[in-house]
Amino acid sequence: MNGPSSDPRRSDPHTGEGTPNPPPGLVIAAALAIEARALERGLTGAGGTKVVRVGVRARHAMRVLPRDNNSLIVAGVGGGAGSQVRAGDIVVATEVRGPEGAIVRSPAAPLLAAALRALDLGPGVQVHLGPISTTDKLALGSRRRALAAEGVLAVDQESSWLGTLADQPFAVVRVIVDDERTGLYSPSTVPRGREALRTLTKLVPALERWGAAVQSHRRVVLASPRSFCAGVERAIEIVEEALERYGPPVYVRRQIVHNAYVVADLERRGAIFVEELDEVPDDAPVVLSAHGVAPAVREDAAHRGLTVVDATCPLVAKVHTEARRALRDGNTVVFIGHPNHDESEGLLGEDPDPANPRIRLVETPRQAKELEVEDPNRLAYLTQTTLAEDDAADIVAALRTTFPNIIEPPSSDICYATTNRQRAIRDIAAEVDVVLVVGSRNSSNSLRLVEVAQRAGAAAYLIDGPDEIDPAWLIGAASVGLTAGASAPPLLVDAVADALTGFGPVLREEPTGVEENLQFTLPPMPTLLTERRQAAGTSTAPTA
Ligand code: SF4
Repeated sequence: MNGPSSDPRRSDPHTGEGTPNPPPGLVIAAALAIEARALERGLTGAGGTKVVRVGVRARHAMRVLPRDNNSLIVAGVGGGAGSQVRAGDIVVATEVRGPEGAIVRSPAAPLLAAALRALDLGPGVQVHLGPISTTDKLALGSRRRALAAEGVLAVDQESSWLGTLADQPFAVVRVIVDDERTGLYSPSTVPRGREALRTLTKLVPALERWGAAVQSHRRVVLASPRSFCAGVERAIEIVEEALERYGPPVYVRRQIVHNAYVVADLERRGAIFVEELDEVPDDAPVVLSAHGVAPAVREDAAHRGLTVVDATCPLVAKVHTEARRALRDGNTVVFIGHPNHDESEGLLGEDPDPANPRIRLVETPRQAKELEVEDPNRLAYLTQTTLAEDDAADIVAALRTTFPNIIEPPSSDICYATTNRQRAIRDIAAEVDVVLVVGSRNSSNSLRLVEVAQRAGAAAYLIDGPDEIDPAWLIGAASVGLTAGASAPPLLVDAVADALTGFGPVLREEPTGVEENLQFTLPPMPTLLTERRQAAGTSTAPTA
């Protein structure tokens, strides 16, 4: 696997040749001499980072800041605003609001905050993300409370001025010395100030790493198609419609789709995710996830009279139908898939006699070659919908070699969304330094995208969102490919693309890809058990 810049084709964003742009060098601006000294103590010497003292209210900034293409971090102590920010905490500015209404955004904020959270900053130190306000005079008492009411998390007297001067990536980090509870003028301010300076020193290596990842320009190439597929959109819409039809809570067996953001969002809106149906009360509606379930799960739900809405993707349901047909025709089914995945578990559940299995799971070519079956001439294979095409082809080839009469599925079981996303990222990965795949760690199709990109020669990483980008991945990387698994929302891709602008100006490209128009209809919402009882004029639960 190539890392950044190991292939000269990948190095220059315009010509495709030459060496990558050297990082322009980071300047850390501090108002006070004691802050500047604390920051200098933390310098590792990497990347030629300079600490520059600009004076209170950045009085000398124009005179002392280097005029070349530096990235700029304003770092020092500050005052906390709002009850959630405590002395000793750190605030990373998403934007800086100036006294005259100027607002300077800092797209780098989520990345920097994540890098700071990864440091060992001592017990109880929280890293917050939010607006910082620069004021002419010290903002205390009611003034600071008013700013907190507007969402401001910290106040200082320099950042806004420096932000308007910076034409390169800009960030602000404040270690909080005083908060709502402590006030500024208190005997404990001095020891808190000392502690804050010690924290400042500890932050510097993370600031340097961010500075090293900054480029004067970088290509970001978005794969198309990417992100949600028709099956995932349908599954999410089913939970949303169930919440609207029945009101919360709506139970969902297993993660509706394998994405942490989607699950957290639906939880916030009233969905309760459970592992098994025995966690679902009799009179509550339950949605079955997009990955499909074993027939035993449906039988259990029917036996209890549960109100079930099935969000199984129609393309997963198709594989179940093929499995039942193959079994009915007297074949043993070889299922190419990943063990412990919800889709494999559901499909294996189609086996009528697990003690004497007629569905056999294989995950590797070797397992395919070593497979022993009762009748090699009564054999059919099927695949999980989210496999990597290349992996599946290798396993199918091994099966065909060992079992020349094996029956193929009527059409590929690897779904259109999986195939399209893999082909799109394969093309891009061949010409970029780094690939970022947005998706959760339990998302099979997202993991496969990482593997496909790595095979195409790029360094590739799976991230749940922008705060998982490690700046170290981008050092020397002049081009970044970006995609998302079928279960990852488009808004997270936008958030990652936006965060990348925190490492310097970005030239955004999106090569034309396959257009996807597939849509699945939603199932009807069944009547609740309690409604059925009322209609029947009985309170007795059905038993079959
Ligand atoms: Fe359906 Fe394919 Fe999407 Fe899975 S990835 S939910 S099989 S369309």
